[in-house]
Amino acid sequence: MKKDIRSMDYEELNTEIQNLGEKSFRARQIYEWLHVKLAGDFEEMTNLSKALRARLEESYEILPVEMLERQISKIDGTNKFLFRLHDGNVVESVLMYYKHGNSVCISSQAGCRMGCAFCASTIGGLKRNLTASEMLGQVYQIQKISGERVSNVVIMGTGEPLDNYDNFLRFVRMLTDEHGLHISQRNVTVSTCGIVPKIRALADEKLQITLALSLHGSTQEKRRKLMPVANKYDLAEVLAACDEYFEKTGRRVTFEYSLVHGVNDTPEDVRELTAILKPRSCHLNLIPVNPVRERNFVRPDRKNALNFKNNLEKSGINVTIRREMGSDIDGACGQLRLRYADAETDQ
Ligand code: SAH
Repeated sequence: MKKDIRSMDYEELNTEIQNLGEKSFRARQIYEWLHVKLAGDFEEMTNLSKALRARLEESYEILPVEMLERQISKIDGTNKFLFRLHDGNVVESVLMYYKHGNSVCISSQAGCRMGCAFCASTIGGLKRNLTASEMLGQVYQIQKISGERVSNVVIMGTGEPLDNYDNFLRFVRMLTDEHGLHISQRNVTVSTCGIVPKIRALADEKLQITLALSLHGSTQEKRRKLMPVANKYDLAEVLAACDEYFEKTGRRVTFEYSLVHGVNDTPEDVRELTAILKPRSCHLNLIPVNPVRERNFVRPDRKNALNFKNNLEKSGINVTIRREMGSDIDGACGQLRLRYADAETDQ
């Protein structure tokens, strides 16, 4: 079996290439081809001899992340991509243009096994974990295809990154490595549904990335109704793990809250949210729930959402409503992928 060369970090690649009997500057060149020049093929590595390229070809592979579809929003230019992995699984990624830079949202798994009630990505369950190479591949492809420099990366696409912890961590290290794209750790955000031991492990890595916690319910009872993972880790434990993340890294945690009309947008929710968030140094991001065809959740209208936000603000919470991007292209997270899966089954 060929080895996945794009998942090797700088040191591992050095050792590997030296074991082939090559000088270490060759490893530097190869790493640069893979992670700076974003080569998808050994043939492109023209400053290596033909013989070395053939040797690499024999023992290693660069797992393909092949674009199947690209949608471009007429409203704000947001790009949504559907990529095909080597085994036929498909994943979604998004490119968003903000004033502060170009932000890419990547998937960390094909499918998801977390089962959140409002989420399209979990319908159909988990297919498999993505490798670091496949996560990097999404960013690299988007940079190549769009011709735009990517400055921010959010791991908020399909999948639970902390359920694929080792590959996710490797991805972040390589993405921010000075020998690669060298994206600032402060410009990387990981979103989790709240896998407590992994949040604690991540705090110990002492990275400077932002942790975003999917909260969605202001009490254990309410959260449990929307997120099965809450049966395993209750709200108090999750909040304590977030506190540890803040204490160890100095990075303020972001809480994400999908607003579902009549479910978690009542005055009582404002009070309960205030009670848990007020004592914490954090930021709250409200996301009016994206309607998913397979689910019957309704988003509050603009006025209700603003009201909810203003009431939280009045009680001292640092809160924003997430600006909706690309609302004219395949709506909620995971829907492009689902539509693709449906089309496959229909044929
Ligand atoms: N598994 C991770 C990351 C992926 S989802 C997590 O749970 O955080 C990224 C964010 O989008 C999460 O906060 C998730 O709860 C939210 N989300 C999923 N489906 C949504 C929908 N239909 N409408 C609004 N937000 C949604």
